[in-house]
Amino acid sequence: MIVLVLNCGSSSIKYQLLEMKDETLIAKGLVERIGMEGSVITHEKTGHIKIVKEVPMKDHKDGIKHVMDALLAPDGGLKSLKDIDAIGHRVVHAGEKYSNSILISDTVVAALEECIDLAPLHNPPNLDGIQACKELMPGVPMVGVFDTAFHQTMRPESYLYAIPYKYYEKYGIRKYGFHGTSHKYMAIEAAEMLNIDVNDLKLITCHLGNGASVSAIKHGRSVDTSMGFTPLEGLVMGTRCGDLDPSIVSLIGEKEGITEGEVTSILNKESGVLGISGISSDFRDLEAAMKEGNRRAELALNIFARKVRFYIGAYIAEMNGVDAIVFTGGIGENDTYMRELICKNMGNLGIKLDPYKNNVRSKMVILSTDDSPVKIMMIPSNEELVIARETNEIVKHSRLL
Ligand code: ADP
Repeated sequence: MIVLVLNCGSSSIKYQLLEMKDETLIAKGLVERIGMEGSVITHEKTGHIKIVKEVPMKDHKDGIKHVMDALLAPDGGLKSLKDIDAIGHRVVHAGEKYSNSILISDTVVAALEECIDLAPLHNPPNLDGIQACKELMPGVPMVGVFDTAFHQTMRPESYLYAIPYKYYEKYGIRKYGFHGTSHKYMAIEAAEMLNIDVNDLKLITCHLGNGASVSAIKHGRSVDTSMGFTPLEGLVMGTRCGDLDPSIVSLIGEKEGITEGEVTSILNKESGVLGISGISSDFRDLEAAMKEGNRRAELALNIFARKVRFYIGAYIAEMNGVDAIVFTGGIGENDTYMRELICKNMGNLGIKLDPYKNNVRSKMVILSTDDSPVKIMMIPSNEELVIARETNEIVKHSRLL
């Protein structure tokens, strides 16, 4: 089965075309600046050079048309559109409606439209992508794979905020959690690597990229995660503040004479390690600045590491132990220094990083010492592959019905 995976952002589309027989990547690409000046598509058939083409694209339907053109070009990877057997869409928010990926129907689209209030920036472009594919490739089955779905196994003790219960009932205010596809992938791959059934494992998975979250996964089910009602809660991130006393919002608004919306934007876009350091949200820049003696860059890195450690400790308590800690994401996979900083001084919890093994990037490896009771692992993220796998399974299953 050939599966097209689409991840539609507000002005971008990331895509991959995969042959599921042997899970090979046929081609991948990125459309950027949809609806703006200078829209551009970058396409790469596996083993061939990247092709970059600037072409006006007014909306997602235009963008997807150009994805199809790129795939059908001589070095594109696809002979005919008819060869696409299914499309997998990454969808950010499914609220409490879906705890698994699902074949997209009109009912599913309507349910996702109802979730727009919960993810006003993310769900509309996801829905635009679904609508565009329906028009351009009618009859091709589509599957929705949701960021929130994996965390739907959390218990109310973990997902409810201690605010009047009526707000949960009226507005669905609760912790949803995100990066679900990535946390699920880490859990499945870690179990396979350790050769232990995932149902027998307690895992803490750390997705550390620009957006960052930690999850507690007990016996294959998410029992807690650090992101909340929105991706703003939890860890300190590149530009997001993470956990915060909510009264700070109104105080900043009052003192600075700005609206709550403007404060929220500052907490999302100007905070995190960028806000603390005043330099950058990129950990490479911060580490370079720290080496040159910049104290605030060092402080930002220490605050980030402390918060990851804080959640690791909390989740060990929540699960009454942990068998393995898994790292992924741009920072989790590449930042040797940060992994070392996070795992420092956790020997009493049975977490012992091997500095020699840790000197590695983006590989599926075990990083802990041989005598470490808790395994420390790195598993490069591959969200597109998870989306393609789920799409493949669901479409195959629906054909059997
Ligand atoms: P996103 O959440 O946007 O998908 P990524 O998972 O791609 O983010 O992570 C991007 C971040 O990873 C960068 O901002 C940078 O901080 C970090 N990063 C990438 N490569 C390195 C590296 N070699 N050393 C340290 N940090 C890195």
